Amino acid sequence: MGEKKKKIVKTIKVNADECNGCRACEVICSAFHSLPKYSGNNPARSRIRVVRHPLKDIYVPVYAGEYTAAECAGRDKYVIDGKEYEECAFCRASCPSRDEFKEPDSGLPLKCDMCEGEEEPLCVKWCLADALTYEEREEEEEEEEEEQEEMEIGLEALADKYGLDKIMDTVARMSMKG
Ligand code: SF4
Ligand code: SF4
Repeated sequence: MGEKKKKIVKTIKVNADECNGCRACEVICSAFHSLPKYSGNNPARSRIRVVRHPLKDIYVPVYAGEYTAAECAGRDKYVIDGKEYEECAFCRASCPSRDEFKEPDSGLPLKCDMCEGEEEPLCVKWCLADALTYEEREEEEEEEEEEQEEMEIGLEALADKYGLDKIMDTVARMSMKG
């Protein structure tokens, strides 16, 4: 085994108690990712979604994680400080069981990219309630080969689910818009 390199892991710490459900994070995320940038905003395209139940005082910002081809078999309800959270409330997956984290036109999965190219994630910057905090930490990097393999498996899963033609069409459409 070769010597492992260090990498920076970027994370967003979510403090749901501070969230007031304003949805500014959804607006800025979808605007930043529209093509061309800031040409529109549609929270359905946002990589962060806020689970809101105002009557129960429940606001949970969740940002998009990995795509999954199948929904999970066992699900749990959570009761925290007397509030009952629905089964999928904290889940970050782009999953067949719900509409969150899917590009509305193509159905392709969305994933948070930490606002690539920006100094700080924009949802963090726009959250005036301080519910979101950006953090970086250093970790040992996996070997390059393993990373490559994971990426290939990810692409294969997408092609299985959506069909290679659909993916190619979407990519072509995005490049035309850009
Ligand atoms: S911007 Fe902050 S307070 Fe507003 S919904 Fe998003 S996480 Fe909650
Ligand atoms: S870090 Fe950027 S891409 Fe990720 S949820 Fe926030 S605004 Fe969206």
